[in-house]
Amino acid sequence: MTLLEIKQVSKSYKLAGKEKVPVLRNVNIKFESGEFVSILGESGSGKSTLMNIIGGMDSDYEGDVMIQGKTLRSMKEKEVDAYRKDKIGFIFQSFNLIPHLSVLENVMMAMQMTDTNKQERMQRAKGILTEVGLVDHMQKKPNQLSGGQKQRVAIARALSNDPDIILADEPTGSLDRDTSEQILELLDSIAKKGVLVITVTHSQRVADFGSRIVSVEDGSIIEDQRLKERYMAVKETNETKGKSLSLKASFKLAIKNMRLQSKRNLLVAIGGSIGIVSVLLMLSLGNGVKTYMNNEINSTLNPLLVDVVKSPEAVKGQQAGRLPNRQRGGEPFTEKDINKISGINNVDHVEKVITIKGKSNVVYHESNKDLQVLGTVTDSIKDKNIEKGSLPSDNEVLLTTSFAKSLSSDKTYKSLVGETISLFINQMDEQNQPVTVKAELVVSGVYDQGNTGPMNDANAYVSYSTLENAYSSQNLTLLPTQINAYANNQDQVESIKKAVDKAGFISSPTASIMKQVTTYVDMATYLLSGIAGISLLVSGIMILVVLYISVVERTREIGILRSIGARKKDIRRIFFSESALLGLLSGVIAVAAAWGISLGLNNLLVNTFGTELVQLTPGYMVFGIGVSTLISVIAGLLPSSKAAKLDPMESLRYE
Ligand code: ADP
Ligand code: MG
Repeated sequence: MTLLEIKQVSKSYKLAGKEKVPVLRNVNIKFESGEFVSILGESGSGKSTLMNIIGGMDSDYEGDVMIQGKTLRSMKEKEVDAYRKDKIGFIFQSFNLIPHLSVLENVMMAMQMTDTNKQERMQRAKGILTEVGLVDHMQKKPNQLSGGQKQRVAIARALSNDPDIILADEPTGSLDRDTSEQILELLDSIAKKGVLVITVTHSQRVADFGSRIVSVEDGSIIEDQRLKERYMAVKETNETKGKSLSLKASFKLAIKNMRLQSKRNLLVAIGGSIGIVSVLLMLSLGNGVKTYMNNEINSTLNPLLVDVVKSPEAVKGQQAGRLPNRQRGGEPFTEKDINKISGINNVDHVEKVITIKGKSNVVYHESNKDLQVLGTVTDSIKDKNIEKGSLPSDNEVLLTTSFAKSLSSDKTYKSLVGETISLFINQMDEQNQPVTVKAELVVSGVYDQGNTGPMNDANAYVSYSTLENAYSSQNLTLLPTQINAYANNQDQVESIKKAVDKAGFISSPTASIMKQVTTYVDMATYLLSGIAGISLLVSGIMILVVLYISVVERTREIGILRSIGARKKDIRRIFFSESALLGLLSGVIAVAAAWGISLGLNNLLVNTFGTELVQLTPGYMVFGIGVSTLISVIAGLLPSSKAAKLDPMESLRYE
């Protein structure tokens, strides 16, 4: 039965897009198994072209090739790939071994793309390497071998998938006479097993070695000469199930290749990481600053508070004040006003607030100290800031730490808690006569106002009713100059503010200040991250360029892989793995660097801000590595599809 038939095959090359130069003219020939055919002809007679067509490496021709009753033309691209892998073993004059793989790995390469397991592959590869006499060299790299040994590896690789046809294009072209003879013996022993061996040569001596000589001249067969009987052994045709290169195998291949170019890849990864590092640092800094600001604001301002004053004059110049309970002077509120405000929807409760500035003093034993501010205690005073003691109830007073220190001493100020002090307030009565309001008060606690500025040094806080009682004992009426309205929740603050303004009062919700600050910090963070993102783009382009160079550098390797049956998908996968690995590496470097930098910065800044200002979260780290890998994979798409699209024949031609 005919194994292989070339039917009416013609091919011509278009030179410079005009002239058609015929390379093959109506070639008709049949081959059978067990033949050792030499195709003999001068250089340029079209021998290689014919081999490439038979091997399914070139589809740009007229006529057809029939193999075991099936024509190449009727096969889909995938089937042609499988045909190359299962039926054909290619051997080239220049060996075409993959330089970064060992002898054993080169032989196992084609088998990677079949559904054999690793054990079987190893077993089979070792068997074949023993057959070609190279089992002792299987861990070497191709460049550690002589020419004859390299060709043996190529033969072993061609045999690895148990092909029916061996195509050898000038297999002895770069070998000396003795070595050539050994290689020809080896090819003959392969034919003996029932394989069709077709070699191409321009040497009569080499051609004479086979069982049949087909002479070619100028693209036509001019002679077909049988020297011996073909070998009659019947070879079982194999039908391995093809499969793609597994992702694992392609990653392994990628790691091997990246190691080969380890310096370059490391530099690229470091370069690529710069963009990620800057984005990560910007995000972390923004995160840290926001937390810091929120804490600062929350510790001084109550987000639910809407503070209300009556006359606009009183507010002037005090908008920026950030007193814990922003207490402002101005026109006093009447009971009617207060009811109006507490009646607004979603107002939880209201507080009367009054602030007496610079008119009061405290006497304790021999100390007599002036108060800067005597205020009513409000919800804004936080328990957690009370160093010792508690909030003042009736007839009690809360002193700021600094005022307590001035009354007592730096060391003993805490022991003031529980002591009685005398408070004096110098007021004018309704007749504008000076009057002193006096109260004996127990110190309920000392209160640390934090860094709210120099204005809050010497302050004391009492409850509104305490002050009211003290005033009434002097026949004075106390009216609040500020009302604090508290919302049920933060979302209602804006609507309460609107209602307050509509009622003719003046409000200043602290929540909106906080919202604004947060918005500004967010805006700054995103802006800076965006700018940092530009360096991300640059690193993406860099990775693209490097992969492009890699594709160009490895065009031959791609051709080799295609010649042993790799599909376009497999090629794409190899380059995809490389770009993903590169991105992963770069992301890991970036996270490590960002982490290091954030540690350093935090150490530097912790004294100034009292908190870690660069907050690199695990989420950001995952984000950094993910983005880096994604950018790299996207950048690799173009080069890898370029690599996959390369015509196998053209890529092998590439030097
Ligand atoms: P051989 O292997 O017998 O030396 P080839 O099959 O390699 O011959 O080439 C046959 C002819 O086709 C030669 O004249 C060669 O110059 C020409 N040829 C081969 N490949 C190309 C190509 N890609 N473009 C143009 N001409 C080509
Ligand atoms: Mg040739």
